[in-house]
Amino acid sequence: MSLNHVRPWRDIYRRKSRQIMVGNVPVGGDAPIAVQTMTNTLTTEVAATVAQVQAAAEAGADIVRVSVPDEASSKALKEIVRESPVPIVADIHFHYRRGIEAAEAGAACLRINPGNIGDEKRVKEVIKAARDHNCSIRIGVNAGSLEKHLLEKYGEPCPEAMVESGLEHIRILQDNDFHEFKISVKASDVFLSAAAYQGIAEATDAPIHLGITEAGGLVSGTIKSAIGLGNLLWMGIGDTIRVSLSADPVEEVKVGFEILKSLGLRHRGVNIISCPSCARQGFDVIKTVETLEHRLEHIKTPMSLSIIGCVVNGPGEALMTDVGFTGGGAGSGMVYLAGKASHKMSNEQMIDHIVEQVEKKAAELDAAAEAAE
Ligand code: SF4
Repeated sequence: MSLNHVRPWRDIYRRKSRQIMVGNVPVGGDAPIAVQTMTNTLTTEVAATVAQVQAAAEAGADIVRVSVPDEASSKALKEIVRESPVPIVADIHFHYRRGIEAAEAGAACLRINPGNIGDEKRVKEVIKAARDHNCSIRIGVNAGSLEKHLLEKYGEPCPEAMVESGLEHIRILQDNDFHEFKISVKASDVFLSAAAYQGIAEATDAPIHLGITEAGGLVSGTIKSAIGLGNLLWMGIGDTIRVSLSADPVEEVKVGFEILKSLGLRHRGVNIISCPSCARQGFDVIKTVETLEHRLEHIKTPMSLSIIGCVVNGPGEALMTDVGFTGGGAGSGMVYLAGKASHKMSNEQMIDHIVEQVEKKAAELDAAAEAAE
């Protein structure tokens, strides 16, 4: 929960959910909202998949999902799990054997719909494998693959059908006394997703995995996800998120974090506040921000940096940031530290200097946090 009673218009009251574990990552309850992504390499190509998992983890992913479509992938999964710095979720569709193999291979969670894997005996076997290997389950309802009887009942994918599907899968797990599950009700349409998520949030206390499925490319998918997930998160719904983009998984993680950062739900790395620039700019704001985003990727400490083209908004923004730079005249600008004007710096040396100042501030904040523990 992010509460800021001094500014009540910023408060978000998170829905109270049960907490489950995905490996060593708590999901639900008062745990931080976990950011997930999914690999898009062939799972059987272990080195490539592990490299992608590591890159995603380096970018901040708490959990990574890997597809397990065949037996060879189950075998590869074992090696991937061994090399992964974060818990791995195995994505299973229909094949109950893959579910059992993935649990045995060390997956921290199975994404599987118990109603779609065959008769009761098979369901029981998968649940037993999950239980025996400390593996949680994510029920993943998708508007595009709703059960036939629900489509017949409702005529088309609609929020009620998605909630009913989710509750049917939940019932199967509960009937088997299995409670380590979370649920998602995804659709590619933001209205359908948002309504289905609100419905399921009311109907269960299970942790919720948020996602807008098949959201699109980097720009359109980011906007769709920010609107869909952003609205739900703002309502307090969602314990873990995955932004689905037709892009590198690292981009999904970055976008996921930016959505959470915008709502004050999680903080990681440098939050750059920059102006759009105009004829008044004292230096090239756009190019500078692009370079700084890249040069500061290694900073994980939550902190803020303002890069503002001129004195119209520069001093005001710098007041609220850890490090600031405001463009001035004659090829130089003012550096602000902890909100106060500190010293002048030439435009040529400004990027290296800001990187240095940010690294110094991050080290100070890390040391202060360590001392407070
Ligand atoms: S802060 Fe200055 S340079 Fe930036 S957009 Fe505003 S007026 Fe233009």
